[in-house]
Amino acid sequence: MDKRIVLLGPPGAGKGTLARRLAEEMSVPHVATGDMLRAEVAEGTELGRRAKQIMDSGELVPHEIVVEMAIERLGRADAATGWILDGFPRDVEQAVDFERRFDSAVPDVCLYMKVDTGEIIRRITGRRVCPRGHVYHVESNPPRKEGICDEDGLALTQRDDDTEHVVAKRLEVYQEEIGPLVDHYDELGVLRRLDASGDTESVQTRALGIVSQ
Ligand code: ADP
Ligand code: ADP
Repeated sequence: MDKRIVLLGPPGAGKGTLARRLAEEMSVPHVATGDMLRAEVAEGTELGRRAKQIMDSGELVPHEIVVEMAIERLGRADAATGWILDGFPRDVEQAVDFERRFDSAVPDVCLYMKVDTGEIIRRITGRRVCPRGHVYHVESNPPRKEGICDEDGLALTQRDDDTEHVVAKRLEVYQEEIGPLVDHYDELGVLRRLDASGDTESVQTRALGIVSQ
């Protein structure tokens, strides 16, 4: 089975949800630059302070920061046999730099997740997270007790960048970058389209069908 996978898709498509499931199934780490940046913000580091302002505006944080961050993470021992990348690379510049600086940066498969706009909005507006990053949805994946994380009992909130205004900006940035990025992976011969509509089980089954081909 393919072990190095890049997930592409709009904000709220379900990349993190699918990545966690694939990572568990395939025993490889889930590497999400958004999660790593949010951990820096939560820890109050200098990098976190810089990143927070940009993330709250819906723009992309500087290239050098995320490429460095991803390469450092993928260089650790647990990523030696594979990885699931979620939210990185975000544009062709990041992809090219990643390929220049990291051996085997070209994935076995790049899954391009397609969901219609109405469903993206439904998924994003219903998303709730705990401070440690566990993700729920008020309808499709509610916690056992409303507003409380099943894993650690902490209060669930909306992400600061899941507001209508910032989501609109994130979708705009995504639309600008995704075409060339998809072409890039298509030219490398690894692009596969994934219908990401339907429940999480169906999406996972479809994804596993593609990566195990
Ligand atoms: P992304 O990482 O692409 O931003 P998430 O994985 O965080 O997206 O998913 C966004 C929201 O949609 C979350 O609340 C998640 O629980 C929910 N979700 C994810 N996949 C599905 C699905 N297939 N059907 C319904 N809701 C989903
Ligand atoms: P989503 O997929 O739901 O849009 P992420 O968690 O991947 O959210 O990203 C949240 C924010 O973190 C982005 O809007 C951006 O500011 C920043 N970010 C995450 N990954 C990258 C990246 N690879 N390059 C630049 N900025 C990033």
